[in-house]
Amino acid sequence: MNLTTSLDKIKGVGEITGRQFAQAGLHTVGDLIEFLPRTYEDYSNIFKIIDIRPGKMTIRAKCEKISTRPVRRGLRITTATLADSTGKIQAVWFNQPYRETQLKSGDEFFFSGEFEFNYNRYQLTNPSAELVKDMPIQTDRILPVYRSIKGLKTQLVRKIMNELRPLISMLPETLPASIIEDENLMSYKEAILTLHFPDEINKVEKARERLGFEELFQLLLASQFNRQDNARLSGWRIPFDQPVVANFVQKLPFTLTNSQRVAAWDIIQDFEKSIPMNRLLQGDVGSGKTVVAGLAACQAAHSGLQTAIMAPTEILAGQHAETLVKLLAPMGISVGLLTGSVKGKPRNLLLNQIESGMVDVVVGTHALIQDAVKFARLGFVVIDEQHRFGVNQRQELLKKSAHMPHLLAMTATPIPRSLALTVYGELDISVLNELPAGRKPILTKIWSPNSRDELYKIIDKQIESGRQAYVICRLIDDNPDNEAKSVKAEYVRLQNSIFKHRRIGLLHGKMKSDDKDMVMHQFASGQLDILVSTTVVEVGVDVPNATVIIIENSDHFGLAQLHQLRGRVGRSSYQSYCYLINSTSASPSKRLKEIEKSNDGFYLAEVDLKLRGPGEIYGRAQHGALNLQIASLADTKMIVRAKRQAEKFASSSHDMLKYNQLAARVNYYQRLTTLN
Ligand code: ADP
Ligand code: MG
Repeated sequence: MNLTTSLDKIKGVGEITGRQFAQAGLHTVGDLIEFLPRTYEDYSNIFKIIDIRPGKMTIRAKCEKISTRPVRRGLRITTATLADSTGKIQAVWFNQPYRETQLKSGDEFFFSGEFEFNYNRYQLTNPSAELVKDMPIQTDRILPVYRSIKGLKTQLVRKIMNELRPLISMLPETLPASIIEDENLMSYKEAILTLHFPDEINKVEKARERLGFEELFQLLLASQFNRQDNARLSGWRIPFDQPVVANFVQKLPFTLTNSQRVAAWDIIQDFEKSIPMNRLLQGDVGSGKTVVAGLAACQAAHSGLQTAIMAPTEILAGQHAETLVKLLAPMGISVGLLTGSVKGKPRNLLLNQIESGMVDVVVGTHALIQDAVKFARLGFVVIDEQHRFGVNQRQELLKKSAHMPHLLAMTATPIPRSLALTVYGELDISVLNELPAGRKPILTKIWSPNSRDELYKIIDKQIESGRQAYVICRLIDDNPDNEAKSVKAEYVRLQNSIFKHRRIGLLHGKMKSDDKDMVMHQFASGQLDILVSTTVVEVGVDVPNATVIIIENSDHFGLAQLHQLRGRVGRSSYQSYCYLINSTSASPSKRLKEIEKSNDGFYLAEVDLKLRGPGEIYGRAQHGALNLQIASLADTKMIVRAKRQAEKFASSSHDMLKYNQLAARVNYYQRLTTLN
């Protein structure tokens, strides 16, 4: 038997059990060994009822009385009296009516749970119950509890693990010895043994530390290797042309902020190197990323190279094209727009111009990565709102060049530093941490759904003084199963009643793209007072004259999303307002209170990380693929340790053949996270 042995070859696992494991993604002995317990039950210390005290507790008792009653819709409570030779206590389960059938037999069980004060009395809350006669021979220990696998009892999983124990004790070390020593870590086999068969609960932490460190080390080593690979590529050298840059900056209708200047300088310096740039430009909403990209594109064009700028929506691509024409046309640089709705003749013409090099800057959506799009000399790629794109889409675009182009990925979703180090480890980062001068912080207020009238008066006043407003709803159509407001119904309601005298537009993702463009254009040029929209305006849309945004059912949105939506206003020197309308008049969530309190995207990202974990922030799909079992991407200290070791390891030469498992994992992460 070895790590690649199929699970159904193990004693005690037949075909059916094997299939059940397979359904949970566990196929080989190696998979099962790394299937780590979710928590533990402490059977090393079984309490007599007479000695019981508040806290996590295991007792050995029989169930004397048990019954279930409905309390309210969706809640059924089962209560039981448990007894041993020393006394009786009460146990309670929520929504586990099957406990009745399970416990009525009168057999002896181990009950493990929290003994706490609840409903005016001390009770054992939601204890697990394990039949004493089913338990392994020695029960006087700490037992692992595994994530449940459909059709399989925990006891069986424990038993099979027991079969694997000899194999586990012979597992080779997977980390370099010097790192184990430097970081004072448990060995691999000891960590795995401890987690499956702990003899002391205190050792579990140390074992988790070791495996968590290893996961982060693998991930960070992958980004070190990606950096090294990138450094071996030869890209396009774009020399710094001071007069060109000075001319560009001089023609701007505003002065650049300090951080825009620094970011632009970072890029200019990267351009001068012969290895391709790999840079992330992080800037809060409205911090002015587009002009930084425009400045860089200007440099590229002047050295005879083309730039491709990819944006996630047609609306945004259209808007960028407009902005860039304004910035670049006076410099003699041509800009083209390629989206799915550019068809027929104009499309062919544009494709020809791109291929012959007549167009310097091409702005577009995913349409840019189609095979038909061929560049003459693509030297610079900008990906706006980069988290909206998959790794493959980015790579497709980069492949359209003879040499690896310089890459600037831009994001308005600031991520905490710890997270940036791990998931964007191979990127250099520039940050726009200030807003253009003269901006006033947006005033944000949580608003009760019962006092909309007052709110509409405030908005009408803004419109009266020449400003514009957004009203955001979650749904496109009314939906009987969802009480949230829809844009269509809200559009009709507002137009027919309260805002009869105002010009209102409707925008949502299912509209034809020509219609979308038209509405967006009307709003941007001030022909509409109010835009009722879904979250299609969430990213990037820039209408500086808009100063109010109402977000209906705001409790249904995530923190990052609310912050993005709010970022549609506050883009000029006018005072702007954001009103968050709760679905009910109940008290607002912590999330809403945080967003009411702060305008700082980086702070909110930290809060989000604490409230929801890193998965949601990084993007569900990618985080899922990272598949970190133990390590937390919020564990800054551990990340710093792992990063130091990864840098050290990558900078000296190693024979990766010596580290089989490490090499395989690192390779996997390299492919997953690379932007090359
Ligand atoms: P984001 O970083 O959210 O993509 P944009 O690039 O859309 O921001 O810029 C937001 C608005 O700020 C635009 O209207 C842009 O013209 C304006 N802007 C950018 N930089 C400055 C600046 N330094 N001073 C004043 N306004 C600026
Ligand atoms: Mg933007």
